[in-house]
Amino acid sequence: MPRLYFDANASVPPHPSAVEAVGRAMAEDWANPTSTHREGQRARHRLEEARREIALSLGVAPGELVFCASATEALHLLFRGLQPALGERPVAVFPGEHSACLNPLRDWTQVAWLPDIPPDCATVVQMAANNETGILYAMPQVPGAVRVKDCAQAWGKVPMDLSDCDMAVFSGHKMGGPRGAALLWLRPGLPWEPVMEGPQERRRRGGTEDLPAILGLAAAVRHLTERQSLNASLVTLRDGLEAEILGWNRGVEVIGKGLPRLPNTSALLFRGRNGEALQVALDMAGFAVSTGSACHSGAVKPSHAITMLGYSSDEARSVVRLSFLPDARPAEVEALAAALKRLT
Ligand code: PLP
Repeated sequence: MPRLYFDANASVPPHPSAVEAVGRAMAEDWANPTSTHREGQRARHRLEEARREIALSLGVAPGELVFCASATEALHLLFRGLQPALGERPVAVFPGEHSACLNPLRDWTQVAWLPDIPPDCATVVQMAANNETGILYAMPQVPGAVRVKDCAQAWGKVPMDLSDCDMAVFSGHKMGGPRGAALLWLRPGLPWEPVMEGPQERRRRGGTEDLPAILGLAAAVRHLTERQSLNASLVTLRDGLEAEILGWNRGVEVIGKGLPRLPNTSALLFRGRNGEALQVALDMAGFAVSTGSACHSGAVKPSHAITMLGYSSDEARSVVRLSFLPDARPAEVEALAAALKRLT
């Protein structure tokens, strides 16, 4: 049997049109968009065309988008750039944020954890969707604060709304784009300063843009509506799998059941079992799943996204995350259910 991949929240295969666009750009659009000769101008034209197309899809102005290499980089630029103006003032942070978001906040002096909102809170940080549980979160209302949203997991899975935030980050490789292209979105007029010097991206992110990756991202964005509707239709498959597993009466719990969640994600707590051991057994049986964020795998620390929901460290270590690709088929999910039944 071919291997089956249920780790879409870590990365998804790039859309064929993105693969094609990257290949073509590497052959044809390899020039430096900052160069002033014709080759460079052509590359710049393609770059700005991609920016316009992506901005249109997000409902923002093209000049508000900064191309980065990853959401991790975008989050670092975001917080390091806000830090001189806001780093000494209170920031309210959702405790389940990804480490890519928490790490650059380390040198901020007054961090409070949502739902606590300190007086004079100047920045609020709330991810749109959690990578491990798939739970969707609303931006808290904090008048006057700069609102930061990590959309890395939500993009391409659920509709995006940027009206409730001022800054956001997006990752290309989780929505059908290639690795190496991600976005930082900045509403105009923020107290934000660039930290990576250089003339590119209107001096907001130095370094020659990875044009092939960016053109691949633009190609994937052309299929965003289709991706979103495929993802939306996964709810039936995902809920069916959860109902079957709960029906075994083996004490399994679905984390976030009943809450609004990404349609492709199921975080299953197999009480008394070791999530890593189960993940390895599933891998050997032909199924790629995760025990939490791929960025954390290898680390033995229980997931803070799970413990913040009130689960113990032991329970957090018993969680397996299934995240379906948009084109997952019923037969594949049935095969996964059979393997889980056999191995638990
Ligand atoms: N934010 C969230 C919620 C994520 O899930 C991830 C990756 O798993 C990131 C940020 C980092 O994204 P990237 O791989 O583009 O650096």
